[in-house]
Amino acid sequence: MGTPVYIYSRATLERHARVFREGLKDAGKIHLAFAAKANPNLAVLRILANQGYGGDVVSGGELERCIAAGMKPGDIVFSGVGKSRAELELGLDRKIGQFNLESEEEGQLLAQIAASRGETAPATLRVNPDVDAGTHAKISTGKKENKFGVAVDVAPEIYARLAQLDGLNMRGVAVHIGSQLQNLDPLEKCYLRIGQLVADLRAAGHQITHVDLGGGLGVPHRPGENPPSPAEYGAMVARVTKDWDVTLMFEPGRVIAGNSGIMVTEVIRIKPGVNSDFVVVDAAMNDLMRPAIYDAWHHFEAVEPSGEKMIASIVGPICESSDIFAKEREVDRVKTGDLGIFRTAGAYGATMANTYNSRPLVPEVLVDGDRYAVVAERIDPATIMAAEHVPEWLK
Ligand code: PLP
Repeated sequence: MGTPVYIYSRATLERHARVFREGLKDAGKIHLAFAAKANPNLAVLRILANQGYGGDVVSGGELERCIAAGMKPGDIVFSGVGKSRAELELGLDRKIGQFNLESEEEGQLLAQIAASRGETAPATLRVNPDVDAGTHAKISTGKKENKFGVAVDVAPEIYARLAQLDGLNMRGVAVHIGSQLQNLDPLEKCYLRIGQLVADLRAAGHQITHVDLGGGLGVPHRPGENPPSPAEYGAMVARVTKDWDVTLMFEPGRVIAGNSGIMVTEVIRIKPGVNSDFVVVDAAMNDLMRPAIYDAWHHFEAVEPSGEKMIASIVGPICESSDIFAKEREVDRVKTGDLGIFRTAGAYGATMANTYNSRPLVPEVLVDGDRYAVVAERIDPATIMAAEHVPEWLK
């Protein structure tokens, strides 16, 4: 395939899916929806579908992917702060399992569309619990200044108004406070608030049958890092929700896909720098954006380590100073032509890739024991150029 290339492990995806489910063994009735945004590759979605997972989607595109990959429409949950009329209609057309409403206006629109078709849409109200997830600001979603959900203090009144509308079957609440969480405390605080809200809604006469607890569990990015395990998370969930008597829904993404994938790159050259050498690799920020946008750490290793180490900055060929994967870090010593890997690249990696600097779109490969398949081809600049047009009046 050449480089750069993403490589996913079927066995690891399946193991993570199993371990997450097993972690929730004491949590009563559960529904698992893989957050398609983390890795929407069709083959990856198929693996999750085979593990009994539905999909958590945030666009019509993700919705169609989940169905194309074999997920049951009834197992699909539609999240996202800006669902368009066309996307709401698509969700109804495909008879998805649940809409997580992010505002009263969105609920009114869905109610109106569903009622005009003589249908009733199953829905929850996404609540913003005003909890600091303690993660990077750009992947934090549950503080009151964030755009997601409705504020927990006004949720009961909005819920009551939505519950009256023809076309909606309001059946619970949803929450998601952020991604790559390193600590269970913010999640527990959030879930306790949601438990109180469920009690208040029931006291007001609403039937609450579903609570969507979102995703967010962090994964180790560096050797020695030790975020809470799915078992620890599941134990907390079971303890906090034991009296809720609902179907608990989950939207894990990173914890399933993150450490199921790596990105392989080739060293183009070593360039001397002032503080340390630069290892210039053929992968760049367009292929793996997380370091540039979240200062994310991706562990780097040589494919064939010599045992020697070097202090170096690992950079891509793009003309931005943010195109840097590692700054003055101790890494395996590499030389021109060597292959290296970035770990923890299976989530929010290929899906965020783009073609900046007119680079090809990075391909994806799935490994299964001793066989592999190309599950997304490299899209070359000529193909991308073919979709662009110079108007006649410029010629
Ligand atoms: N659910 C929603 C609504 C999200 O926005 C996200 C990610 O941001 C997820 C689930 C998945 O989060 P994670 O990959 O951290 O599990």
